[in-house]
Amino acid sequence: MNAMQAAIVEDFGHELTVGETQKPTPGRGQALVKVIATGVCHTDLHALEGDWPVKPKLPLVPGHEGVGIVEELGEGVTNLEVGQMVGNAWLWSACGECEHCRQGWETLCEQQQNGGYSTDGSFGEYMLVDAQYAAIIPEGSDPAEIAPVLCAGVTVYKGLKRTEARPGQWVVISGIGGLGHIAVQYAVAMGLRVVAVDIADDKLALAKKHGAEVVVNAMDGDPAAAVQEAIGGAHGVLVTAVHKDAFGQAIGMTRRGGTIVFNGLPPGEFPAPIFDIVLKGLTIRGSIVGTRQDMVEALDFYAAGKIHPTFTKRPLGDINAILDEMRHGKIDGRVVVEY
Ligand code: NAD
Ligand code: ZN
Ligand code: ZN
Repeated sequence: MNAMQAAIVEDFGHELTVGETQKPTPGRGQALVKVIATGVCHTDLHALEGDWPVKPKLPLVPGHEGVGIVEELGEGVTNLEVGQMVGNAWLWSACGECEHCRQGWETLCEQQQNGGYSTDGSFGEYMLVDAQYAAIIPEGSDPAEIAPVLCAGVTVYKGLKRTEARPGQWVVISGIGGLGHIAVQYAVAMGLRVVAVDIADDKLALAKKHGAEVVVNAMDGDPAAAVQEAIGGAHGVLVTAVHKDAFGQAIGMTRRGGTIVFNGLPPGEFPAPIFDIVLKGLTIRGSIVGTRQDMVEALDFYAAGKIHPTFTKRPLGDINAILDEMRHGKIDGRVVVEY
């Protein structure tokens, strides 16, 4: 039995092919995982479209929110066991030796491999993980519910930490999709007060359900003015939106001395008013997923019962329809493919 079902990108801008492909074999330091469930991230859509300057490998099995059971260990693996529940991640592996890795910033490693991008991911019945970088799923987790934590969860958790907002302070979460609706939950769990911004009222309703106190529809006038009027500017702003307009608007939503963190990755550029940034002492920074330690912490919040992604289960055969719904902003929370 060396074949498996998978969804494969063969060419940018085309539909994925769902069909049979070769089941992978674990190499040294790797484990073979039978996937139970995988989240579908907007990054998978960017990969398919070839949106970014660094392109994924082709053909590609996307997916970096996969949860499953270790079925076979490659040579030299001592930290995982057959039967254990693990996940893949965007940070699939790193070199462990460069300046960034040495400082605990393996997310910046130039030798890193990315799950479902530079290496095949979880849109197949089986996937490989690097034993040193696989996420260890806490016992008792619902595999479908925890899947979105593996990318969306850890990314926004790290992003919120990077805003340096403290308990009791305000954060804006701009973009209430897969990442953003989980960001609202982490923010609340971290003692932060939340303003949610999106362009769709149903997304804002979801944010309210998860604990946002103020919501702003960016289509109803200037969202920065609305945030300033409501709370006098936020201490931190986390942008997970998939439209470049949200990035420029974030600057105007910030309180003096505040920090803006970009998670979203739409292609394009945004206007950055030099005078405001200097006079208001603003910090603007990017944040890419999270380190292995961030992953452990993000999963701990789930295990403590504080994070419940809103998700819909679908079969792998729906993948092209799912990505099309994502392209048009039609998904509530996350879609999780169940095998
Ligand atoms: P998603 O499609 O689930 O959600 C995107 C949300 O943005 C939607 O709710 C949409 O309505 C909203 N939006 C669109 N235009 C907006 C605007 N002008 N203002 C406010 N909101 C707007 O996508 P997702 O899976 O949450 O991913 C979001 C982005 O984050 C993608 O670009 C993805 O590649 C990126 N991402 C980055 C990292 C990282 O580590 N930095 C990790 C995962 C995903
Ligand atoms: Zn992702
Ligand atoms: Zn490195």
